[in-house]
Amino acid sequence: MIYRDSILDWAIIGGGIHGAYLANALIRHHVTRRSDLRIIDPNDESLAEWKRVTANVGMEYLRSPKVHHLDTDPLSLKHFARCRECSDDDFIFPNDRPSLGLFNEHADSVIEKAGLDELYIKGFAADIRLENDHAVIITEGDTIRARHVILAIGRSGALNWPGWARRAAADGAGICHVLEGSFCRDQIPKGGEIVVVGGGMSAVQTALSIADNNRHVTLLSPHSLRQNNYDSDPGWMGPKYLNQFRNISCYRKRRRVINKARNSGTITPDLKRELTKSQNRNKCGVTIDSVENCSVLTNDLMLLNLKSGETLAANHIVLATGYENRCPGGDLLNGLISNFHLTCSECGFPITDSSLRWHDRLFVSGALADLEVGPASQNIIGARMAAEKIVCK
Ligand SMILES: Cc1cc2nc3c(=O)[nH]c(=O)nc-3n(C[C@H](O)[C@H](O)[C@H](O)COP(=O)(O)OP(=O)(O)OC[C@H]3O[C@@H](n4cnc5c(N)ncnc54)[C@H](O)[C@@H]3O)c2cc1C
Repeated sequence: MIYRDSILDWAIIGGGIHGAYLANALIRHHVTRRSDLRIIDPNDESLAEWKRVTANVGMEYLRSPKVHHLDTDPLSLKHFARCRECSDDDFIFPNDRPSLGLFNEHADSVIEKAGLDELYIKGFAADIRLENDHAVIITEGDTIRARHVILAIGRSGALNWPGWARRAAADGAGICHVLEGSFCRDQIPKGGEIVVVGGGMSAVQTALSIADNNRHVTLLSPHSLRQNNYDSDPGWMGPKYLNQFRNISCYRKRRRVINKARNSGTITPDLKRELTKSQNRNKCGVTIDSVENCSVLTNDLMLLNLKSGETLAANHIVLATGYENRCPGGDLLNGLISNFHLTCSECGFPITDSSLRWHDRLFVSGALADLEVGPASQNIIGARMAAEKIVCK
C-alpha cells in the first residue's frame, strides 16, 4: 500500500466525529489530496464510538442544533433533510435539534461523498515518534509516516468508575457502565429494580430507555435535576466569549473558566418532561443522593448505602457517570509528553499555539484542544472550530 512506502502529508489519529470532520475539511479546503491523507482508528467503521455510545444510552435526538454536523457547510443537514422529505418528527424544538437517525444518515452520506472510508487504516496508535521532517506512527501491525499528525482521540479510554462501583464489580455485583465498549442491553435483567447512577443527559436517557412494565428504574442523581438546552452557552462558539477567553494567559484560569462554562450534569427540558411522565406512570423514580458503599448480597442483588443514611436495593446497577476529568490519551500521550518535552497545563491538558499546533508535526482536536478552543471543544461544533484553526494555520 502506498502509505507504507512513502511519507503522507497528513495522518489523523481517531476516526470519530472530530477525525472525520477534519479529514473532510482538509480535503474540501484543498489543504491536502485524498491520496496524501489517512485516518487511523481501531474500529471496523467510521464514527463507531459515536454510534455505539449514543445507541447505548438510547438517545433519540441530539442536544446540539441542526447546523452542527459533519459537513463543512452549516446548512448541509437542512438541505439533506429536505431532499429526503423528512417528517417534522426528525427535528425537535428548540433549535431544530435533529433525530439521531437523521444525523447519522447525513454523517454517513458526508463520509461516503468524501470517500473517507477508503482512507481508513485499522489500528490503534500505540506510539508516535516526532522526527525532523515527519512523524512516525506505530500501530500493532503498521508503521505510518506523515508530515502532519492530528490527534482526534476522543475520551473513550477514560470512563468514570467511582471507587464504590469498582469495589462492587470486584465483589461480583451486576454492574456496568453505559459508555463502556462491552455494554450490552441484554445484560440488564428483564425485570426487577434497576438503579441508574448519574444526573446528566446520558443518565436520564438511559433510565427512560430501559424502564418498561417489568423493570422499575430508579435514577440516583447526586444533585437535583438541572435544566439547560445547551452543553455550554452558544456565546462560546464565537467571539462573544472567546475573544476574552483567548486573552487569558494563565492556563489554570482558562481551565477554571471552562469548567464553570460547561453545563455538566444538566438535561434538556424535553427530557425532564419525559422523565416526569415516566414517574407519573410509576416506571421511573428519582432519588437525589450519593452512594457511600455497595454491599453485594448476590450478583443480582445489591444494597446501596447512601450518604443520607437511606438504603436502596438493586437487581442491577447501570453507571451513567460519564468520563473522568483527566486528560485522555493514556500511554500514547504520556510517551509524547516525556519523549518530546511537550507542554501541558497543571490540569494535564496540552498547551498549544492558536492553530492547535502542539509540536511542529503535531496538532490536536476535541478534548485535547480544550485550553485553546474553550468549553465547546469536545462537542460536534468543536470539530468545526478546530478545523478553522488547523486549516488556516
Ligand atoms: C452519549 C453522548 C451523546 C452526545 N451528544 C452530543 C450532541 O448531541 N451534540 C454534541 O455536540 N456533542 C455530543 N456529544 C459529545 C461529542 O460530540 C461526542 O462525544 C463525539 O463523539 C466526540 O467526538 P471525538 O471524535 O472527539 O471522539 P470519538 O467519537 O470518541 O472518536 C475518537 C476515536 O478515536 C479513536 N482512538 C482513540 N485513541 C486512539 C489511538 N491511540 N489510535 C487510534 N485511534 C484512537 C477511538 O477509538 C474513537 O474511534 C455526546 C457525547 C456522548 C457520550
